[in-house]
Amino acid sequence: WRQRADADLYDAKRRRRGLLPASLDTPEAEDLLRAITDGQLVVRYQPVVDLATGDLAGVEALVRWQHPRRGLLGPDAFLPLAEATGVVELLGARVLRAACHEVRAWQRRTGTRAGVAVNVSAAELAEPAYPARVLRALADSGLPAADLVLEVTETAFADVPTMTRSLRELRTAGVRVAVDDFGTGWSTLSRLDQLPVDVLKLDKSFVDRVVPGQGCTPVVDAVLAMARALDLAVTAEGVEHAHQVAALRDAGCDTAQGYHLQRPVPLDEVDLARRVRVPA
Ligand code: C2E
Ligand code: CA
Ligand code: CA
Ligand code: CA
Repeated sequence: WRQRADADLYDAKRRRRGLLPASLDTPEAEDLLRAITDGQLVVRYQPVVDLATGDLAGVEALVRWQHPRRGLLGPDAFLPLAEATGVVELLGARVLRAACHEVRAWQRRTGTRAGVAVNVSAAELAEPAYPARVLRALADSGLPAADLVLEVTETAFADVPTMTRSLRELRTAGVRVAVDDFGTGWSTLSRLDQLPVDVLKLDKSFVDRVVPGQGCTPVVDAVLAMARALDLAVTAEGVEHAHQVAALRDAGCDTAQGYHLQRPVPLDEVDLARRVRVPA
């Protein structure tokens, strides 16, 4: 990963603020910052499957910290600290560039057309330079804009004009935008038709309530109907059972991801050959 550019990004932030945020003075925060600049972050990729065909539709990039002593740590162990200290912007920039480069190389290696979804924090999006950063990552890696989805959590869709302006700019360039954890925030529903989004990611809590023999729940059916009316695609997350795959497929859900399909893995372990056998 291009450590130099990241260091510059961080220095620029520091200069602008005049000093390091006080909270960065803790050993834990310094550890995390060093981990980011030393290349200890790695990215795992979870397959997203097209429910109509069973083919791989894309992958979601999920950050991990390959800790020298504590092993492979999930985001829950360090994202809150990253958010609190502002380091999350640097982290996000690194994951974005890594994902674009790794997925482009993987496309070339395997011939797959699958693209990548990257999680974006609210702090990154609030930065006016964010769209330029994304466009540079695409240009540097050679990844087509149409192969990148930016996932923004529903709660992060606060009414920040910079944010929607940035997302509009990126969509004009061909990047798609997903509302992550859709249905948990209730903040976007009233203006969903005005937001610059293409995909709803139906939160796992809704998928959990899909039980055998009953199709989808009324709420899931309603979300799918609304998405169709607004011309949005829907990805179901956290699919853990075959009957959920079948129910979501029958209800017209476009894509799904979850442990039942495949866990997050290094890119080379993503199963390209196997089609998901969707039960009748
Ligand atoms: P998310 O965006 O909702 O990602 C889905 C999470 O659910 C991932 O957890 C994934 O491993 C997990 N998951 C997928 N399928 C299943 C399933 O069938 N069952 C269960 N129980 N879990 C499943 P992970 O990797 O621990 O990530 C947690 C959260 O951390 C993500 O939630 C996302 O909000 C955040 N995150 C991850 N990577 C990044 C990143 O690069 N940048 C930012 N800003 N946030 C990230
Ligand atoms: Ca996500
Ligand atoms: Ca999610
Ligand atoms: Ca979720």
